[in-house]
This record gives sequence, C-alpha cells and structure tokens, in this order.
Amino acid sequence: MMKLKKLSRNLAQIPSMRKKFSSSAAAGIQKEKTDCVVIGAGVVGIAVARELCLNHNRNVLVIESASTFGTGSSSRNSEVIHGGIYYPPNSLKARFCVRGRRLLYEYCKEHGIPHKQIGKLIVACGHEELPKLNYLLNRGNENGVEGLRMMKGSDAMKLEPELQCLKALWSPTSGIIDSHSLMLSLMGEAETHGTIFSYNSTVIGAHMEGNQINLHISETKSLKNLDSKSQGNPDIILLPKLVVNAAGLTSTALARRFNGINHGVIPQSYYARGCYFSLSNITVSPFKHLIYPIPEDGGLGVHVTLDLDGNVKFGPDVEWLSDIDDISSMQNNFDYTVCADRANKFYPAIRRYYPSLNDASLQPAYAGIRPKIAGPGDAFSDFIIQGEEGHGIPGLVNLFGIESPGLTSSMAIAEHVAAKLSRF
Ligand SMILES: Cc1cc2nc3c(=O)[nH]c(=O)nc-3n(C[C@H](O)[C@H](O)[C@H](O)COP(=O)(O)OP(=O)(O)OC[C@H]3O[C@@H](n4cnc5c(N)ncnc54)[C@H](O)[C@@H]3O)c2cc1C
Repeated sequence: MMKLKKLSRNLAQIPSMRKKFSSSAAAGIQKEKTDCVVIGAGVVGIAVARELCLNHNRNVLVIESASTFGTGSSSRNSEVIHGGIYYPPNSLKARFCVRGRRLLYEYCKEHGIPHKQIGKLIVACGHEELPKLNYLLNRGNENGVEGLRMMKGSDAMKLEPELQCLKALWSPTSGIIDSHSLMLSLMGEAETHGTIFSYNSTVIGAHMEGNQINLHISETKSLKNLDSKSQGNPDIILLPKLVVNAAGLTSTALARRFNGINHGVIPQSYYARGCYFSLSNITVSPFKHLIYPIPEDGGLGVHVTLDLDGNVKFGPDVEWLSDIDDISSMQNNFDYTVCADRANKFYPAIRRYYPSLNDASLQPAYAGIRPKIAGPGDAFSDFIIQGEEGHGIPGLVNLFGIESPGLTSSMAIAEHVAAKLSRF
C-alpha cells in the first residue's frame, strides 16, 4: 500500500498532471486515465514526447525505469551525426538518418547545442576494399547524402597526415554532437509544454480490456522480486489513449509482456556490445575528422571518433551477448565493463589505417549495447516502427531495433511516430 501511494504521488504530484488523470480503484489496484505514455527516456523517447506535446498538443507522461534520463544506449554511443550512407535506399534507416540529420543540425543551431560538422573519411586500406567504397558512394548518392566525394589516398593523407589508406570517401555532412545537451534541451521543451517525466518507474507489462490498453507500472525497486516468468503485481495501472514503447534494449522483451499482443509480430532480439578505447598520454588528437574503415558484420567497424574537446576514442567493436533476461534489462543491469584484453583486437584493426599507433597506448573507456533484431551473419535489418497495422492494438507504437543511426534519426523518428498516432 505504501508503494502504491508513493508511486501515485510520483505520477500525480504535479498539479497540471492531476487534472489530466482521472482515477478509479478496481481490484485493489489504482487505475489512472491519461492521454499519452512514452516508455523510456532515451533520446528517442524524449524526442517523441517533445514532438507529441509541442506539435500535436498531447498530454504526455514519460515513464523511465532509471533514476534519470538517457542512461541506456543514448549515453553509450559514438555521438556521431551520420550522413546516411550505409543503409538500403528507401529503408527507414536511410530516410530517417538523412531527414534526422538535417533536423538535428537545424535544432542544434537554434538551441545552441554543442556540435561540430567535422566531416568523415571512410577509408579503403586494401585493394579488395575498393569496390566496397564505390558501392558506398553509390548508395550514399541514392540516399540523397549531400557532398559525397571520392578522394585519392594521397589527398586523404594530406588532410590527415597520420592516416594510411589507398582511397577514401569524404562525407562532409557527418559530424559530432553532445548528446547529453541535446537530450536536456529536448526535455526542457517537452516539460515546458506539459510533459511529465516519472523516474524510478517501470512498465512491467500490459493487458487489454476491449480496445483499452491497461499499462502495468511498478516502482523500479520492486523489480527485485520479479522474474521473467511472472507477470508481477503493478503498483498502478495507467489507461492511456496512446502508448509509445521506446524502451530501447528492452522494447521487444517488454512487448512480449503485453497480454493481448500477438507474439508472432515481435522480432527476435539480439544484443551486440561495443567497447571503446581512448588514447593515453596524448595531448593533441592525431586526427581532425572522423575516420571509419569499411563496415563489418554487426557494426561500422572500429572507427575514430572525436568528442567536442578534441579527445579521440576508438570503437566500438562487436561482441554478441546471450542470456539477457528481460527483468535485468528493464533495470539496465547490463555488463558494461570494458575488458582491457579486448585492446589486443583493436591494435591490428586500428593500425590498418593508423600505423603509428603506439604499443600500450589504448585505455579502456566505455561500452554500449546495440538493440539488434538481426543476429550474427544475418542480412540487413531496418528500424521497426510498429503501429496498429502491425500488431492490431489501437494507439500503441512499438519501436524495435533502434540501433545506430538512432541518435541521428531521433527527431525524424519522433515526427513519424507522432504522425502515425495523429488519428487517435
Ligand atoms: C555502441 C553504440 C554506438 C552508437 N553510435 C551511434 C552514433 O554514433 N550515431 C547515432 O546516430 N546512433 C548511434 N547509436 C545508436 C543510438 O545510441 C541509439 O539508437 C539511441 O540512443 C536509442 O535511443 P532510445 O531512446 O531508443 O534507447 P535508450 O537510450 O536505450 O533508452 C531507452 C530507455 O528506456 C528505459 N526503459 C527500458 N525498459 C523500460 C521499462 N520497462 N519501463 C520504463 N523504462 C524503461 C531505459 O532505462 C532507457 O533509459 C549507437 C549505439 C550504440 C550502442
């Protein structure tokens, strides 16, 4: 009873929200009507919340299991604004990356978000990689990526004296961004337009009553007593008109806990950890631009990223994880340790394009986990933005497989999700 009171207080403590809720108690569990619930306060959930309240006049409640925003993939990535080169033409990744990048640069300029359009070189270091570089150029052009240009190796090496390559593809629209500042700014706008962020609150499942979604919410600390096989006892049930499942790494597992959804439409999830290493004993970065090798299975290859202070890092690699259980993932209990031994694989990968990398200069930095819906060796998988047409539940949108370029695409995904929900 105490838990219920505390959680309800958390959700309804703000006077404006109290007006938006109407409450009823049935079967001992308090039920609250509300307009929109966004599950997850990562960059995508925050962008969706902002879009819904700012441009669609909706009342939004964001439920976040952690104690603050952006602790999932959104703070464990390369912070690169991608051009939109790699993805099959007309895929959601291609469309949202190009549109999202344009929106993001505009937004950064308007709101003073730290970012730099430093450009990127994709490099071919072996003769067998040259056709792949041409392929990427054609694909980028088809996707509408502006300014792509093939460069002779000698020209690329003039631009970046530490670089060694045979040929390079120059992408001038690629850049870097302070993703934390971006999230703070989007959140600030959302809050100004009435969005409420409820932290330490976890969506543990849902059931349907007619067409009404009943969303089961618990205090995150109660999850200690929950296991994957049990439904759990919610502290409160929300009755929203709209639900956006933007739970990142957990979105597939969470959808499987929605009673009433056909599990056949929920993709299989795979998790690919990526570790980063930074350079020790370096005062000036060896590179001024982003340097990417030819992409590998599961990722874009161990690349050079710079942060806005000019610090260089290398990564991420690809390590497929297994045995992830949904309750741990809801609590973000992933293993993010970077094992120093992984550097042994980084040195040869990096030295292909940066031969003067010194021995013992790589230091473990951080790791992130990609929420994948295709496993090792599988073909390309696109973002899935699944509405009623996909699962049959009115007012619910599931976001699955929002891996890279999800940060770049976040504002375009938000536009798309809000448009999808505009008839409800
Ligand atoms: C290693 C790596 C490198 C990347 N590099 C780039 C890049 O350079 N450029 C780029 O554009 N993209 C990049 N990405 C992709 C980008 O980071 C993600 O696409 C983006 O951050 C996804 O945001 P999100 O909001 O969907 O997910 P998340 O940031 O993971 O947010 C999901 C949130 O949901 C919460 N949550 C989970 N379950 C529940 C629940 N049951 N109830 C309530 N809350 C819940 C979590 O706590 C979390 O805060 C990279 C990703 C990785 C892993």
